[in-house]
Amino acid sequence: MSADRAPVYLDNAATTRVAPEVREAMAPHLDAQYGNPATLYTLGDRAARAVERAREQVCALVHAQAPEEVAFTSGGTESDNWALVGSVLRADKRHIVTSAVEHHAVLETCAYLQARGLAQVTVLPVDGAGLVDPQAVRDALREDTALVSIMHANNEIGTVQPIRALAEAAHERGVPLHIDAVQTVGKAPVDMQELGADMLSLSAHKFHGPKGVGALVVRAGTRLDPYLHGGGQEQGRRAGTLNVPGIVGLGAAAALATPEVLAHEDARLRALVDRLWQGIEARIPQVTRNGHPEQCLPGLLSVCVAGAEGEALLLYLSQRHDVCVSSGSACTTGSLDPSHVLLAIGRSTELAHGSLRFSLSRYTTDEEIDRVLDALPAEVERVRAMSPTWKG
Ligand code: PLP
Repeated sequence: MSADRAPVYLDNAATTRVAPEVREAMAPHLDAQYGNPATLYTLGDRAARAVERAREQVCALVHAQAPEEVAFTSGGTESDNWALVGSVLRADKRHIVTSAVEHHAVLETCAYLQARGLAQVTVLPVDGAGLVDPQAVRDALREDTALVSIMHANNEIGTVQPIRALAEAAHERGVPLHIDAVQTVGKAPVDMQELGADMLSLSAHKFHGPKGVGALVVRAGTRLDPYLHGGGQEQGRRAGTLNVPGIVGLGAAAALATPEVLAHEDARLRALVDRLWQGIEARIPQVTRNGHPEQCLPGLLSVCVAGAEGEALLLYLSQRHDVCVSSGSACTTGSLDPSHVLLAIGRSTELAHGSLRFSLSRYTTDEEIDRVLDALPAEVERVRAMSPTWKG
């Protein structure tokens, strides 16, 4: 590993680097413009104006009907929690429909609500590409269904759900649809009107904004209780002094993701991912690609490498080559759990343990893809050589 080379960062589904333009926009609000937007004097008013500008920028990015539909939160996790908890408490209906491939922010919240007797949850299966069937949503709906919550794009395998059809299925019975769009907003075009979503979660740090800030966009008329109680911020919907620098950063990141940039990046990233996949397939035997080949995020490649532990590959790639990727296993409480997403699309436990996720960004270069292709085959061989199960 050469000390003068920058790391190859291909873990942009986990987080992204803050864009220089975003840092610049935030800087005054970490310095002289430190006012509390809830106050009336000039310093506070300037902060309030900056927040409202960001609200407009986020509204434009996701095509909400009006800026007032955007409520700022601490990120995707809070937005997901709020959508679920706020819906069941407000609607006085207790049933939630979701899918087996959701982020933990949704699945764990559902499990919590169910364990406390506050909700009953139907978890829909997905097909081998990770897609939810709109007919399965139709069949799952009940008189007491408060909400359907399905993610826009999956964070592990990149599959993009048929949201429009899922929304139609939910709306036939008057049930609102929440979409976790944390992996699509700022990376792919997202139009709430076209999609038919009633609520949408987004998170700034996934598209070159700062960490710890996001939004829940709530279509006017959607029944939702507040989640955080206290001061009357965000029109009484979400209490707490606003994170002004973060919100300004979120707005600036949203403004950078213009339709032109997204269209250009879509083509460029798909070409890079194709090259990465073709290179892997040509150099390494027994690898499988996960996710839908077309209905997918532009910059994400998920693979399963038979006979190789994903965590080991990740560590070798990092230590020997300064390449940052992620594996599908979550190392929690000392045990290596295989990814629930990979199991849901039918991968065996063993294969799921051999998963790697490469997620690219607008800063990813051709040269970085070459470095991964140079490094990976030997590391796979090394890990396979140590595996008691690999028979080659
Ligand atoms: N939902 C999805 C699909 C995600 O990928 C993530 C983050 O990985 C989250 C929610 C949580 O977002 P945050 O990190 O802003 O809490």
